Amino acid sequence: MKFMPALLPNLIDAIAEVIKKNAEEVTALDQAIGDGDHVINLQRGIQALLAQRDELSQLDWVAAWQKIGMTLMSSIGGASGSLYGTLFIALSKAAREQTLNLQSFAGIFAKGVDAIKQRGKSEAGEKTMLDVYIPVADYLRTAAADSIALPDVLANIPRIAAAGMESTCDMVATKGRASFLGERSRGHIDAGAKTAQLMICAIVDVLAKQLATPA
Ligand code: ADP
Ligand code: MG
Repeated sequence: MKFMPALLPNLIDAIAEVIKKNAEEVTALDQAIGDGDHVINLQRGIQALLAQRDELSQLDWVAAWQKIGMTLMSSIGGASGSLYGTLFIALSKAAREQTLNLQSFAGIFAKGVDAIKQRGKSEAGEKTMLDVYIPVADYLRTAAADSIALPDVLANIPRIAAAGMESTCDMVATKGRASFLGERSRGHIDAGAKTAQLMICAIVDVLAKQLATPA
């Protein structure tokens, strides 16, 4: 009963906070090889979710993820709007008739990440948010298959997300606006990978704290 959508207000607050705290740094990244609007785009989505936080906390995961997906799709804008909208709608679809635990979530999350790939026609190594989401999804699959304990999984994820984010620095962008720069995109971290890493770490923090709190 621990990881219920009642946690969503905490998760949304934590994401809002980490994006706000790192806004300047991320904007500088998107200005270097994109158009500089990535934080503003995400914050539009986060504001829309903050306005729905009480409503969302009353839903089950399938309904909550569906609503989040629709809200993000219509509020974020930019490439990341349709990608995040697609992610959550795919999570909702994959979560139908499932009890949420590490095993099921590993499969659900993998489907969400696959949906981003399809929507963006993109793969690992193209200098995008996927260079964070794919290794995290792969790790979750392995951890679930090896029955690694949830606290250990949560402790490992930040390192994997950070490594994925940092790996984008040496890549040449082949998707999104940064791809217009070709070889000149090399040497900068991708803004979408950075925010993916920040948001994943914020989520892991909330979940780890929840896990440590006696029921
Ligand atoms: P826009 O590029 O339209 O200005 P944002 O600035 O909000 O949109 O988001 C840019 C981020 O979206 C990039 O940093 C990258 O991580 C991600 N992105 C862009 N295109 C794709 C794609 N085809 N597949 C996956 N991620 C992508
Ligand atoms: Mg942009």
